[in-house]
Amino acid sequence: MMSTDPRADASALAGHSSLTPHRTPPAGVPGRRAFADVVAANAQYAQHFTGMNLGGRAARGLAVITCMDSRIDPLGVLGMKPGDAKILRNAGARVTDDVLRTLVLACYLLEVNRVLVMPHTRCAMIGREEAEIHAQIASKYGVDTRGFEFRTSSDVTSTLRADVQRIRSFPLLPARLPVAGAVYNVDTGALKLIDD
Ligand SMILES: [Zn+2]
Repeated sequence: MMSTDPRADASALAGHSSLTPHRTPPAGVPGRRAFADVVAANAQYAQHFTGMNLGGRAARGLAVITCMDSRIDPLGVLGMKPGDAKILRNAGARVTDDVLRTLVLACYLLEVNRVLVMPHTRCAMIGREEAEIHAQIASKYGVDTRGFEFRTSSDVTSTLRADVQRIRSFPLLPARLPVAGAVYNVDTGALKLIDD
């Protein structure tokens, strides 16, 4: 659902009343039923599948780190198609240890030769304090998440610069690997590269 609220992601999650915290799955949960729509859709997809000739390498040499926000179509935004690029997604498009791990593999084994870090406007991870998110989850679900760092950011551009630099400085990646940062505008579809 589109929303003009910058906290839409988190609000949508908080409003999902069927989520109930538990440490062990209760017996008899009808998990498969929750996926009936996607299983049915896949049956249709597989009937008309045309991607069997795609390789596992990035045909256009690009890796993109972007947010999990469902408003973003990373391939469409960049004029690419399946097979062209490696897409790495997490909350806030942050360069985490696991992103670095994946980039090392992508660069040396899967023909990635350029990296774009692409956070976005109106991200629920930007402009909020960590404590605010912990409190929101605690009050709604009674779960204490304070042992986690969600990696919120007060400013998208300064955080993006630091994340781009983190990739450039990572010693296991190729020394001359081109790395850029750009903010995707979810309202206009436009991408704005940041200055180095
Ligand atoms: Zn986001």
